Amino acid sequence: MALPPIVRAGHPVLRHPVRPVAPDELGTKELRTLVDLMIAVMRRAPGVGLAAPQIGVGLAVIVLEDREELMSKLSPEQRESRGRTPFPLTAVINPELTIVGEDRATFLEGCLSVPGYMGLVERGLTVEVRGTDPDGRPLFFRESGWPARIFQHEVDHLRGALYVDRMLTRSFSANEEVSARWFESSTEAMKRGLGV
Ligand code: ZN
Repeated sequence: MALPPIVRAGHPVLRHPVRPVAPDELGTKELRTLVDLMIAVMRRAPGVGLAAPQIGVGLAVIVLEDREELMSKLSPEQRESRGRTPFPLTAVINPELTIVGEDRATFLEGCLSVPGYMGLVERGLTVEVRGTDPDGRPLFFRESGWPARIFQHEVDHLRGALYVDRMLTRSFSANEEVSARWFESSTEAMKRGLGV
């Protein structure tokens, strides 16, 4: 299967709200092919989530998957503070997301469509997501920590939003600087260090 490239920031498809998947598109070969393609692109990157606009398709489809090997550089404390736990491969059609409660968390976030950089983004700690699987069966998730962050990031893509719209702009950092200076740091230390 030839995989499409990931669309980068600057392409209009990333800046327009998508259209919902229509009922008669559920369960079709076309939709399954799109989901399979998105999973393959996400895993190749590798990333923990992908939204259809990131391969140039303006449809309300997201995929997520967080694996142990993708968090292997994090210390137990970092995993704990981020609520980073493996999340099984999931595809959600027409996701509707609600942030639950007032608790928020601020951590570095990146995006496959903005390669090479990261920034601090405040996200809701807990979310509820409703949607369907590619065959139209209802799905419901209530997630906290990192899976909740991934859901918020991917659903933002469907609205034409990128994390850079939400980030604390002064925290915007090249990956090399994150590795050299901030990877071990707390969010508060990074904020102090960059005058955020
Ligand atoms: Zn993204």
